Amino acid sequence: MRRVAAYLGLYQRHELATRVERARKLLENCEVCPHQCHVDRLAGQIGKCRTAALAIVSSYGAHFGEEAPLVGSKGSGTIFFTNCNLKCVFCQNYSISQLGEGREVTREELAGMMLSLQKRGCHNINLVTPTHVVPQILEALELAIPEGLSIPLVYNSGGYESVETLKLLEGVVDIYMPDMKYSDDEVAQKCSGIEDYPSVNRTAVKEMHRQVGDLEVDEQRVATRGLLVRHLVLPQQLAGTREVARFLAEEISLNTYLNVMAQYHPCHKAFHFPELSRPTSREEFLEAVNLARQQGLERLDGIHADSIRRVFFR
Ligand code: SF4
Repeated sequence: MRRVAAYLGLYQRHELATRVERARKLLENCEVCPHQCHVDRLAGQIGKCRTAALAIVSSYGAHFGEEAPLVGSKGSGTIFFTNCNLKCVFCQNYSISQLGEGREVTREELAGMMLSLQKRGCHNINLVTPTHVVPQILEALELAIPEGLSIPLVYNSGGYESVETLKLLEGVVDIYMPDMKYSDDEVAQKCSGIEDYPSVNRTAVKEMHRQVGDLEVDEQRVATRGLLVRHLVLPQQLAGTREVARFLAEEISLNTYLNVMAQYHPCHKAFHFPELSRPTSREEFLEAVNLARQQGLERLDGIHADSIRRVFFR
């Protein structure tokens, strides 16, 4: 039986409109994310995310390359937002996240994309890089619900989030999928230009887990609600896997669903950094998986011989 998306209850209780109003207010003196740029995006000013009043979308469609519980049989309905509040030197989508590839969309257009993905049978609306456009997403949602939108929202982010903004999403987002990129401030500064990423990220993940709990799946093994964490293994243990795994095991839950990702390869500005100029090795990846297991984390996405072979012997 399909679970009803959380936002329907909020809409029926007439609480979504209040959230939209509060979120839109944040744009006037922008505090949508922890950068707190204090620019008036409604007046056309831009801060670090280079996005003003309208969201920018690079593409949308049914995606079959996401984690298995999101993809199911019909795909995950991804909407890729342009620009980002992080500046990762190795970003694999840098033409979208850093070079601004995409076009501005109105709230009506964004609502239309959500409805079209549901019509195609997608299991969820997967909002990719949504942090800097939370107000615009809420506005679109408010238009899409009376038109019949009812599938869960996935908040698929880099994990540099403001708790105040996340609170606006309580009862709206069913599935949170944040990255946990680093454990060390210096590495975070060097790789993404944000020194306080580790502490901000951990606080955000705690808030996400408080809202939705561990990942739950239905009888078809499709995700219905909960937290799914992504951790990209970088060369030379730069991602701080041991500390990320310890945090999840001790401060979130031993039942955390974790995707330890093997696919790092250098691109964008990574070649300027010797330690980032080569792919993650098979040994480094397997070590990261072992570190997660040593902490007692067993819900690891796609960790079996076939997937390891696919990544390292392509
Ligand atoms: S959302 Fe953009 S403008 Fe607002 S605080 Fe974050 S980076 Fe700055």
